[in-house]
Amino acid sequence: MKKQKEIKDCQSCLMPFSKDPQGDNRENPHYCSYCFRDGKLCFKGDLKSFQKFVYGKMREQGIGYCKAKFFTWIIRFAPRWKDAK
Ligand SMILES: [Zn+2]
Repeated sequence: MKKQKEIKDCQSCLMPFSKDPQGDNRENPHYCSYCFRDGKLCFKGDLKSFQKFVYGKMREQGIGYCKAKFFTWIIRFAPRWKDAK
């Protein structure tokens, strides 16, 4: 029997759920509480503007320049954006 892969990161921004302030109480098991709210993904727009948005949020939270750049860059590999053109 194939074991189902456990999802540990947000499928939109790749933030680990362990860092989600809502933890296991988040609305959608696939997305963090920042990305998914009130029954839908709350960010509308393309990957580029989403990356800008996330970068700003991370800097606000005191995350270092290099780290924030890196986490912003890997968002392109998130399932939500991978197939988007
Ligand atoms: Zn997210």
